[in-house]
Amino acid sequence: MTKLRHVIGISGGKDSAALAIHLRDKYPKLELIYYFCDTGKELDETYQLIESLEGYLGKPITKLESEEAAQSGKNPFDFYYNSYKGYLPNNVARWCTRKMKLEPFEKFVGDSPAVSYVGIRGDEDREGYISTKSNIQSIFPFRKNIWSEEVITSVLSNSNRNEISDIYATLINGSDLDRVTSVVNKELRLFGRNQEPKRTDMMDKLDTLLYVDVVTFNHVVFKFLKTRNYPLSFEEDYPLLNDGQVLVRDDIFKILRDSGVGVPGYYEKLDYEVNGEIGQYARSRSGCYFCFFQQKIEWVWLYEQHPDLYQQAMEYENEKEGFTWNQHESLQDLLNPRRMKQIKADHLKRMNKEKSKGSKFLIDILDDTESEGCTACFI
Ligand code: SF4
Repeated sequence: MTKLRHVIGISGGKDSAALAIHLRDKYPKLELIYYFCDTGKELDETYQLIESLEGYLGKPITKLESEEAAQSGKNPFDFYYNSYKGYLPNNVARWCTRKMKLEPFEKFVGDSPAVSYVGIRGDEDREGYISTKSNIQSIFPFRKNIWSEEVITSVLSNSNRNEISDIYATLINGSDLDRVTSVVNKELRLFGRNQEPKRTDMMDKLDTLLYVDVVTFNHVVFKFLKTRNYPLSFEEDYPLLNDGQVLVRDDIFKILRDSGVGVPGYYEKLDYEVNGEIGQYARSRSGCYFCFFQQKIEWVWLYEQHPDLYQQAMEYENEKEGFTWNQHESLQDLLNPRRMKQIKADHLKRMNKEKSKGSKFLIDILDDTESEGCTACFI
């Protein structure tokens, strides 16, 4: 019988670390396999986190590296940077994620069925990386909806309404069943040449079914998947079906602190001064120190907190060729004191605006930008 593997990628960020702790503590019988895709360009705090996490989990976190990079003896980023002739990755040509994270991960998993756990929180609105390989199924334990969008689209599609109603009828009855059946039978509007279901209709339907009873919904999906070729169909039972818990940002910090693993130092906010006022900055993400997804204020943070790394990031740029980490502005340009001051002032203005709006995150507006763009790198 094929054995399903349960894998969890540790990015070095807070969410995936908290997910590993949460799953180990809550589901000790799940045989979790941990991995980390090393770009060779992470901050020291990332490597420290991996080390303390290994101590807590009592298991090694397998370091994945592309084979060709490993054979070259160079660190992964530098190997590919040379192969791409100094062309820096950017949000349109993101060779870094593909070469250093997705390909090693998919090779590591191979062709046998696997569940990949993704640390997207209940207070985030993003989907994260979904493998194109059908033997890898993503599960999102921090969210109320633990299933990927692809699974939900199939479960809620108009053509599967009868099947889903029938599965519900094996699990509940009476007025509960009547209520759920009326929701399930609601037709989703279709649009476009491919007649895709309208996402808003689908999300409304999903929210209602989750609201009625999340645990029953999970069992329905699980039974449905058993009739399809999904990795989870290899399992007799699956403990996460009975969870229904939603974990948000504060829970993540609590898990890290309570476990003793701790929060990576770069999330700690530090004061900066600009025009006689005090603002606060931090880094919002794990990943490469020169990640092009970072905000300008994070570049300022890098320059002031890790000037050596800023210098190294500068050395990758080639202004003549137009290869810079930020569009239309090199790291050399950004070093101009007037420009640094302007970035801080803009950042402070934005923070104060959030404060006056009563944002619940106040000075934490940076914190959730890690979810922007680099989804595959921070799962
Ligand atoms: S952290 Fe940024 S630079 Fe590094 S692999 Fe991910 S997207 Fe690329």
